Amino acid sequence: MRLLLPLGLLSVVAGCAAPVQFTCLDSDPLCEIVAVLSDERPAATGVDIVGLAAYQGVEHWILKDGEEMVDEVRLVAGRETVFRVFIEPHDDFVSREIAARVYVFQGGKLAGAGQANLAPLGLSSETDLASTINVRIPGSAMDGEATVQVELVEASATASGPEREGESVWPDGDPHPLVVEQNGELLRVYYVPVIQKDGDTEYAPDMSEDHVESIRRQMWAAFPAKDVELEIGEDYVPSYLISDNNAWSTLLNEMVNLRSDPDRAVEPDQYVYGVFSQSVACSGCPAGLSYLAYSDNADYSRASIGYDSPDAGTMVHEVGHAHGREHSPCGGAAGPDPNYPHEGAIIGVRGYNLLSDTLYEADTVFDFMSYCWPAWSSDYTWEALFQRIKGVNALYNAAPSNARLANTALRPLFLSADGELSWGEPLRGELSPAGLSTSVELLDELGLPVAVLDAVFVPYDHLPGGMILMPDPGAGRVRVAGRLSPAL
Ligand SMILES: [Zn+2]
Repeated sequence: MRLLLPLGLLSVVAGCAAPVQFTCLDSDPLCEIVAVLSDERPAATGVDIVGLAAYQGVEHWILKDGEEMVDEVRLVAGRETVFRVFIEPHDDFVSREIAARVYVFQGGKLAGAGQANLAPLGLSSETDLASTINVRIPGSAMDGEATVQVELVEASATASGPEREGESVWPDGDPHPLVVEQNGELLRVYYVPVIQKDGDTEYAPDMSEDHVESIRRQMWAAFPAKDVELEIGEDYVPSYLISDNNAWSTLLNEMVNLRSDPDRAVEPDQYVYGVFSQSVACSGCPAGLSYLAYSDNADYSRASIGYDSPDAGTMVHEVGHAHGREHSPCGGAAGPDPNYPHEGAIIGVRGYNLLSDTLYEADTVFDFMSYCWPAWSSDYTWEALFQRIKGVNALYNAAPSNARLANTALRPLFLSADGELSWGEPLRGELSPAGLSTSVELLDELGLPVAVLDAVFVPYDHLPGGMILMPDPGAGRVRVAGRLSPAL
């Protein structure tokens, strides 16, 4: 229901700055907030607005040290956003609580708003969340034409303080345009409980509602998406225990095969994640394993596995690989990305976790695609993930039928961690132009080469081996890098 309130005039005019004016555009909950905000308060005196930054995961300055940013970084459309209002009390500021109100407009109409209080102790500090007034704005307000305006008011309806007026509205004029870009509705994960059986003993991962929702929320906090969907798949029961590296690689390959299982109906944009209990001992094994997906259309490599740890850090890292992210250079991580821009894999730009309300400093926290801790997303990884999510969603959600038509039948030949070759199920997809191309000889019954197939090698992230992906040869054997495959 659209409820349009009359223009809410905040009639107490603060000296030079006109108060923010608005109408309520969207939903009932917003109008409730608006009712709070239209509770007229005097403009706060004795204090100036000196900064404004927006946070969805990585810091975006809008107003810094009183200077309006012109080359502002893009925000993700539809994603919840925390605005930090930086203030500077005047010398004569009388200690008390004040409130900041943040308004986000769409086409000139109010689309989201919020307020928070603070008893300022001094000039706001970038590194101290408790020194700024932090206001959370729902994702529904964050869209292409969004603009923002901020004001400081007294925390109660009593008269303002005795100080002279400050700069209590920013901008003092038209709201500031935000740079907001769509990258689709969801990041979609197909979450598969892997049940290990040892005789009558069963080892199942934690699939409690609280755990799964916590994992989903942690994934949402770490990825630049509007939201994250976790679809729980049917249980998967491997015929072995996951007790060595070869079992890890075999399980990952079986997760790739699930993509072709018609009963499961995994969609091409879904990231398959096999999750299992850590109760089975596994010496020298990785914490997680994934394929590196080199391009938006490489849906065959959107598969990863890992333990059911309460902390989703490993899952974030693995699904990062499935988004085509290589390692960031810290902690001895193999195959580091040569383009990573910050020395030692520091994140380079201050980060913010929307779930835990934690700040991560630019030079003491490391990119989550490295092996160093504490970890958060760098600006570089955040941008690359944004682009991948956008590309995948554009490919499969905007025009699913076109994307499917373009797919051809491919066949993976898995090379396990121990060097065993095995055929996988036929897959949809296209050979990635950005993959590691390799050629495969197709052999006849006598073992003589009859054709050469264009193929790509997609490596595991944390173990030797991977998959060699080629147009489905239908039958026969192939030879690749001197190795003979089993018969198909
Ligand atoms: Zn890794």
